[in-house]
Parts: sequence; C-alpha cells; structure tokens
Amino acid sequence: MNRLYRYLLILLLTVVSIGCSPTPTVHKQELYVFGTLVSISAYTTNKQGFEQAVDAVDASFQRMHRDWHGWKGEGELVQLNRAIATGEGRRVDPFLLPLIEQAKLFSEQSLGLFNPAIGHLISLWGFHRDEPPSGAPPTRQEIGRLLQDAPAMGDLLISGNRVSSRNRRVNIDLGAFAKGYALQLAIKQLAGHGITHTIVNAGGDLCVAGSRGDRPWRIGIRHPQGRGVIASMEAADGECVLTSGNYERYREYQQVRYAHIIDPRSGYPVEHVASATVVAKNGALADAAATALSVAGPLQWLEVSQNMGLKQVMLVDERGRIYLTPEMRERVAFQEKPDEIIIGVGVK
Ligand code: AMP
Ligand code: MG
Repeated sequence: MNRLYRYLLILLLTVVSIGCSPTPTVHKQELYVFGTLVSISAYTTNKQGFEQAVDAVDASFQRMHRDWHGWKGEGELVQLNRAIATGEGRRVDPFLLPLIEQAKLFSEQSLGLFNPAIGHLISLWGFHRDEPPSGAPPTRQEIGRLLQDAPAMGDLLISGNRVSSRNRRVNIDLGAFAKGYALQLAIKQLAGHGITHTIVNAGGDLCVAGSRGDRPWRIGIRHPQGRGVIASMEAADGECVLTSGNYERYREYQQVRYAHIIDPRSGYPVEHVASATVVAKNGALADAAATALSVAGPLQWLEVSQNMGLKQVMLVDERGRIYLTPEMRERVAFQEKPDEIIIGVGVK
C-alpha cells in the first residue's frame, strides 16, 4: 500500500512538472528599422520575456538609427559631421564613439577599401537620400574634385571622447558597417534578458546565439540576382553572416546600373562583384569586410581577407563565378550546383 502510494505521488509530480515547463519553441517578432524588416527569432519557453526583450531591442535600434545616421536628422553623427566640416572638434557620445574607433581600425585593415569617410562621394552619387537616385551620373570632374580631397578615417584624431579631423572634407557614413554592429549589440541585449538562443536577421544579414534546441540554426545566404538564397549553412553560437551586394541599391541611367558601393580609389561604383559574404564572430568587422571585399573584387579579395583576419569568405562575381576560402567551402551547401567555383585564389 505504502509502495502504491509512492508510485502515485511520483506520477502526480511528473504530470505537474510537465505542465509547468512547456517545451521550448521558436518565437518570432518583426521590427521595421534601418529601412529594412528585422526579424528576431528565439528558441525559448519564455514567450513573454522574449517579447519584452524585443521591445528593449527596438528602443535601442531607434536610438542607433538616430545617432548613427550620417546625413539625416540631428543625431550624434550628423552633428559630428557638421563639426568636422567647420574644422571643429566635438565630444562624441559613448554610444557612437566605439563605432568611430572601430571604423577607423577596419578602414586601415581593409587597405582603405572600406572607407566610411567618403560620405561626400556617396552623396554625389545620389545615395544620401531614401529613394533611389535617378538621372545622369556625376561627371568625371565632379568625382575628381572629391577624390582630390582624399578623405580618410586616418584623418580623424580621437582623444578621449573628443573627435576632430585634420581634413574638413571627411564626411562619415557608417552605412557599410553599422548594421553588423547593431545586430551584434541586439544579440548581447537579448542575452541580458535571458534570451540566449536567438537569431537577429536584417534582410539576410544576421547574427546568431546558441542553437535551435539540439540542432544549430540554419541560415540562408542571399542570392545576388533576384530573390531567394544562393546557399545555406549552419551558423554556430556567436557567428554573424553579412552580405554586401551590388543589387541592393543602385542608380540606373541609359541601361547602365551604378551600384551604391563606391571604390574609394576611383570614385566610381564597383562593377566586378555581385556580392560578398563574410562569416565572423564580430558583426561590425563582417559588415565592414563584406563592403571592402566587394570593392576588392576577384583580384584583391584574398589579400584584403588576410589583412582583416577573415577565414570564411565567399564572393560571387558579375558572371556568377564563386570564390571561396577553403573554410567557407566546408560550410556552405549550394541550392544549385554552381558553374564555376574558385577556391582560395584570385584569378586575373
Ligand atoms: P553595405 O551594404 O554594407 O555594403 O553598405 C553599403 C553602404 O555603405 C552604401 O550605401 C554607402 O552608404 C556606404 N559605402 C559605399 N561604398 C563604401 C566604401 N567603399 N566604404 C565604406 N562605405 C561605403
Ligand atoms: Mg557592409
């Protein structure tokens, strides 16, 4: 009798405990920020906690949008750009300062191909506005004039939280790098709310944490032409996958497309690369690098990758040829067998 009573008690406790801890599932929320839809997924039992965490991330994203925007509104970066133009220095908010510091470092490591100081050039090409630019591209003279100014992140002097510039023609545009930084910050913020198995995805650029239960998160890499994905891969805890593409924004004039990624050496948009994807544990680095590698192209991508300390890189050129580091080759599964894959070496 005593034994039967014990069994019943155990059975009862088991039923109660199952009722208290539902199995985790994937919850998803979407936010609209930086001109894109950002989707946040989490593998958790705590739906309510997840929703609160997403609200906190949303508030941070809005602040990033305000303070890291280089040409719109009255945020921190707009004010810094104004101070630089008038030859003055400015105390920079601690929310922005690390971005300036890192952008400076990555610009140097990318041999200047990632150059967020070329805001005036980007504006000349018409990309400092929300709607796509139209009409004739800028003239060679206009571009040449801006090239002569030679704006570079190396012109910036940072002393404590004070930033000034040796060159008044520096105009900082963090568009190539802030998204990666923001995604990683979101992952950190979610972790602070106890959401440790999550994926933050801004239109195919993403960072992940933890896993989807007993299997890793599986993600897709955007196809450079049209919609859909070119390849998929498993993303490990802490990894970010950032893709830069010519197809994202462009100006079209007389059947010629001018992409929004500008080669700081020539002042002209890049032509030879359709997309560049970087996998790294540092989201800001991956974003800066994806842009730099789009500029580097098939001839220089390996040199720039090595200089930036990257191991996992994929480039797709304008003819659909795919360039991969050996480490990246190991990880990606292509949707369709590519015509040509080049491992690790640039071609002439
Ligand atoms: P992404 O999609 O990350 O490659 O960023 C592209 C954006 O970065 C453009 O819309 C410009 O605002 C800016 N940009 C363009 N070319 C460069 C460059 N060479 N270095 C840094 N930023 C750039
Ligand atoms: Mg980028």
